[in-house]
Amino acid sequence: MKLTFLGTGTSVGVPVIGCKCEVCRSSDQRNHRLRPSVLLELNGNNILIDSSTDFRQQALRYGINRIDAILLTHAHADHIFGLDEMRIYNYLQKGAIPCYGNRPTIDSLREIFKYIFTASPDSKGVPKIITHIIEEKFSLFGHEICPIEVYHGKSKILGYRVGSLAYITDCSRIEEDSLRLLQGLHIFILGTLRYKPHPTHLSLSQALEVAARVHSQKTYLTHMSHDFEYTKVSQELPPGIHLAYDGLELVSD
Ligand SMILES: [Zn+2]
Ligand SMILES: [Zn+2]
Ligand SMILES: [Zn+2]
Repeated sequence: MKLTFLGTGTSVGVPVIGCKCEVCRSSDQRNHRLRPSVLLELNGNNILIDSSTDFRQQALRYGINRIDAILLTHAHADHIFGLDEMRIYNYLQKGAIPCYGNRPTIDSLREIFKYIFTASPDSKGVPKIITHIIEEKFSLFGHEICPIEVYHGKSKILGYRVGSLAYITDCSRIEEDSLRLLQGLHIFILGTLRYKPHPTHLSLSQALEVAARVHSQKTYLTHMSHDFEYTKVSQELPPGIHLAYDGLELVSD
């Protein structure tokens, strides 16, 4: 199983439009963060977790020539606005793409992308997406996909565990039941926004507390704002905890 970080930025990306801070002006590519998404390659199948606002750019940059399924964490714009780009995969693969999420996510998706879900079946101009509501663990291409419920402010959204890897982006709190599902990980990916507390995202110190409770072999932080200068923050992190960056690839079993 291979995971590629397609984007590690928060909803506005880094650099932020109009910002002149040190991180936004940095020449270190690890400080350039597209909107959040990862690609999982499982037995030759490409699973996209979230379809970000920057999806087209990500697909071209990382040579993504196939999408076999999409797992959605939630229906905020930064996680779903790349969905219209699935048209090209429908054409290349001659078929619809299955898309999984919890009930509120799929309900919002059908409202936000009304033109997709109200088009006539023979319409050629809109993506062909088949939605599936996740109620529990399920199997995809021979792998068990375990949804992990987390709080993003007041909303309950999903992270995903596949084997010994788990991906959680937008999150402000994880309850005990979900923490239990995160034990025994080799790779834990967790969203953290900035230093200061935020109502719907973990701050860096809160994310480190969660990481300490999950005690995965390795933890990678993502969904980051321009607060974090890659080299500076990396030097301050405890052992086993790293900042992710766009293009970083991880291999897991
Ligand atoms: Zn987000
Ligand atoms: Zn900035
Ligand atoms: Zn969100």
